[in-house]
Amino acid sequence: MPRCGVVSNMGAFISEVVSMPEPVRCDVCGKLFSSRHLSSHKRLAHARQKLGEATDDQNGMKTILALYKNLSAENKQRVLAQLAALEQAPS
Ligand SMILES: [Zn+2]
Repeated sequence: MPRCGVVSNMGAFISEVVSMPEPVRCDVCGKLFSSRHLSSHKRLAHARQKLGEATDDQNGMKTILALYKNLSAENKQRVLAQLAALEQAPS
């Protein structure tokens, strides 16, 4: 039965193509992953970096600015001096 042969060959061909690891570049970090792992990688590694969502950096800045606004003028000067010292400190 030639028809059955064609169908089973096609099935083998399709399963081969599907199981082939296809490298896909992560558009967030640029690393290569097989297509079946990319979605789980993104969920695990970039869960907090969804489009339009603030990053940890931005959230940290907002927190610092909010705290800074509540300081007295004297303490603002101290904070600025300490920040400047932090930036100048040798790493
Ligand atoms: Zn990534």
